[in-house]
Amino acid sequence: MIIVIKQGATPEQTQAVVDKVTAMGYGVNVSKGAERLIIGVLGVRENKDMLAAQLASLPQVERVMPVSKSFKLVSREGAPGDTIIRLKGGVEIGGTAVHVMAGPCTVEGRDMMLETAAWVKKCGATLLRGGAYKPSTSPYSFQGMGKEGLEILAAARERTGLPVITEVMDPRDVPQVEEYADILQIGARNMQNFNLLKEVAKARKPIMLKRGLSATIEEWLLAAEYIYAGGNHDVILCERGIRTFETATRNTLDLSAVPLVKQLTHLPIIVDPSHATGKWDLVAPMARAGLAAGADGLIIEVHPNPSEALKDGFESLTFDNFAALMEGLRPIARAVGRPLASDAAALA
Ligand code: PEP
Ligand code: MN
Repeated sequence: MIIVIKQGATPEQTQAVVDKVTAMGYGVNVSKGAERLIIGVLGVRENKDMLAAQLASLPQVERVMPVSKSFKLVSREGAPGDTIIRLKGGVEIGGTAVHVMAGPCTVEGRDMMLETAAWVKKCGATLLRGGAYKPSTSPYSFQGMGKEGLEILAAARERTGLPVITEVMDPRDVPQVEEYADILQIGARNMQNFNLLKEVAKARKPIMLKRGLSATIEEWLLAAEYIYAGGNHDVILCERGIRTFETATRNTLDLSAVPLVKQLTHLPIIVDPSHATGKWDLVAPMARAGLAAGADGLIIEVHPNPSEALKDGFESLTFDNFAALMEGLRPIARAVGRPLASDAAALA
């Protein structure tokens, strides 16, 4: 259940509600928005109905709402408004402006990373992607540069000012990746790695949770709930395509997930048309479609020389193709009333 505290209630009055709830054996999760304060009640006890009735009669309580959904804190009812993820340097994901995260699938070396970072920044990307720890379907393919890759990403951030997003696969690596990255990515294959979810819940950096290859929206939001309930409220969702019977594309981009997720949760959502299609020439149209559907941003694979990429070259854009994609996004961004963050910053 969720308790909405009245505007103007004092901190002591709010604390009194928290104390009452915890005294009856429940956990709490307090979310403070610009206008409302919401207390999520965690746990299952037989006295829930009695507690709800008692709370509803308190003068500082506006409303007590049962949450029928299996995911609670990440549900729309669980927060006073849209969650905005704020990074150092003024990047805000989930606000009016839309963000493009771009870079190679994998950090392959210093020069290619610095070159790509400079280019994507010039074209209007506002975050830099690159995998240092790579989930590989085959044990024989490249597994990533590990710590050295993280250092290269940090150098690219230093040069360009772009915040960095990179994947963490192993709970043991969370402290290390957290030290270098601005956003930690949980890959599709690890969406239900519950130990990893619990570990990143303790991290002090935002998490981007990719949808699992065959995960339903409910399973995906429950995975987000693990991170949120574990104490990390900075969760971004990423629709990256799901497995269907169709094999002409690498995955099937579930675009309807974007407006549906917006209805169901307060968390921001990013679309990944690169992994969703697996074909470089489908990336730009599906990126436009993602923005049109209401995504808060995009994550795009870009490589200086896709035909020689160690991973995912077939879905990676050349520098020129990325520049063209960014141009093509502008009219869509205007049409939905959400400027590209780089353009918004230029205007400000
Ligand atoms: C990636 O972003 O490089 C990646 C491996 O994505 P996913 O987990 O969606 O397959
Ligand atoms: Mn990739």
